[in-house]
Amino acid sequence: LKKPELCRFKQRTETLQANNHKHHLHPFSDNGALAQEGARVIEKAQGVYLYDSNGNKILDGMAGLWCVNIGYGRQELVDAATQQMQQLPYYNTFFKTTHPPAVRLAEKLAEIAPEHLNHAFFTSSGSECNDTVLRMVRHYWAAKEQPDKQVIISRKNAYHGSTVAGASLGGMTPMHKQGQLPIPGIVHIQQPYWYGEGGNLPADEFGIHAARALEEQILSLGEDKVAAFIAEPIQGAGGVIIPPDTYWPEIKRILAKYDILLVMDEVICGFGRTGHWFGSNYYDLQPDFMSLAKGITSGYLPLGAVMVSDKVAEVIRTSGEFNHGFTYSGHPTAAAVALANIEILQNEGIIEKARTITGPYLQQRWSELAAHPLVGETRGAGMVAALEIISDKTSRTRFDDKGTAGTLCRDFCFNNGLVMRAVGDTMIISPPLVISGQEIDELIEKAWKSLDQTAKALL
Ligand code: PMP
Repeated sequence: LKKPELCRFKQRTETLQANNHKHHLHPFSDNGALAQEGARVIEKAQGVYLYDSNGNKILDGMAGLWCVNIGYGRQELVDAATQQMQQLPYYNTFFKTTHPPAVRLAEKLAEIAPEHLNHAFFTSSGSECNDTVLRMVRHYWAAKEQPDKQVIISRKNAYHGSTVAGASLGGMTPMHKQGQLPIPGIVHIQQPYWYGEGGNLPADEFGIHAARALEEQILSLGEDKVAAFIAEPIQGAGGVIIPPDTYWPEIKRILAKYDILLVMDEVICGFGRTGHWFGSNYYDLQPDFMSLAKGITSGYLPLGAVMVSDKVAEVIRTSGEFNHGFTYSGHPTAAAVALANIEILQNEGIIEKARTITGPYLQQRWSELAAHPLVGETRGAGMVAALEIISDKTSRTRFDDKGTAGTLCRDFCFNNGLVMRAVGDTMIISPPLVISGQEIDELIEKAWKSLDQTAKALL
């Protein structure tokens, strides 16, 4: 850009930043520190690229917040929203009413979800899905005259949202510390994070060990007290933690033995992230509930859905009123956009392509980063991946002051035109499913360069 143009960009950015900090409190941010630094202003996006107010083009390696699965700028979704807004922008589904987009979306979700999940309860977010699950699970057992079955088992370092129930179900201690969480009736067991917590155990043995923590917890509480187990197929915000292959089969065995419901939080894994429609398909699981959001509309509008199994829905249907719902449950415009999004995923074979072509290519190229002196491990599945920044490869030693290396690397990435997220010193990516081979090459090249710069700054 020419100098006068740069000046104009800079001036505009500074004005936006100043006004932003006067009136806007950011989620998951130190708002004081952010005001000093100035928030980045993203102004538009197309395909896999973001454009900021300084004229920079940035490859979005996180698909927004793991959600823009079909990429930015799809006119079909704009048209679906426009038409629905003209026809019926809003109506509720509370008092004996429904509308075509909610009906069609529920039908479509039943078609693509695992066979026995044929009922949708609509929300506007992942957090609201998990709040809904908590209440529905407890309502289910009460209706079955087992009212003591109330405890929900989750995992440390899980992320299930930011509402009171969502944050309580999640296992993030910094979140629990604010607001006296978790609420009663929720306990957290060990996560299946082999690289971080496996010690000297081989991955497969550690997978069994981590799964057995569930059985121990059930036995210690008493199986007549335990209502459900909630988990992400692959932990996302916790650092893309991919359980060892032995983990899920053992969990399945334990849940069946003690008659405990399985809730899969598919907010990230749903709609193709693993190269399959759902993480439950990827791991061959038959959950009683699936929480869906993000990729359901590719993030174009807020929408969530809890998919409920036939077994549970039958009880809910025959036990009177379920006193729960949201003004925007089944919001017609959001539902219309979700339908258009799912149609694109289906018609363009995007998930199949992620499974057979782009996913394997991304994983192959990503694994090359393991050769970098700063990288202790790379891992991934489908279109999601992580790497561990360490100071010593053989002993898995991390840098002092956890998070510094990750933050450095993330900032270098951004300056090099790549969004990569840092969770402590774990770097993670989750790009739009439509990313091309050439764009994957660009992502890897920029990641390597940023790791080099991080190494130089640290060593
Ligand atoms: N569950 C999981 C697994 C998530 O990753 C998220 C969001 N990152 C949520 C729930 C919460 O979703 P939302 O932010 O839409 O409330």
